[in-house]
Amino acid sequence: MAGEPQADCLFCKIVAGDVPATVVRETPTTVAFRDINPQAPSHVLVIPRVHYPDATSLATAEPQIAADILREAGEVAAQEKTEGTGYRVVFNTGTGAGQTVFHAHAHVLGGRGLNWPPG
Ligand code: C5P
Repeated sequence: MAGEPQADCLFCKIVAGDVPATVVRETPTTVAFRDINPQAPSHVLVIPRVHYPDATSLATAEPQIAADILREAGEVAAQEKTEGTGYRVVFNTGTGAGQTVFHAHAHVLGGRGLNWPPG
């Protein structure tokens, strides 16, 4: 069923506590944890507890949870004290855009100046 945990999904396993992660915030609908391969001094992933393969499919099926992700991105940035540098929220969508884990997730990056356009 849509949104149900997938046995072969790494982020579903993190939500279930079956794969370790450094969790920095949790809500009833989301989990935020440090990226294992950080691309900035602060690099946190915010994911929904439900399984959808990308941000667009999540927003279509569960718009409130998609909004929760964006609100949590701001809460993470505040907790990580990125106010001096700002922060960036990224949803890589599709292999060509760099998506490697097909469970919706927001990258929240901060703690350094961020160039535009990204690579
Ligand atoms: O946007 P993309 O799908 O590439 O992002 C997946 C992210 O998940 C990567 O930045 C990767 O470092 C991170 N990751 C993680 N913990 C894991 C596996 C991947 O933080 N166990």
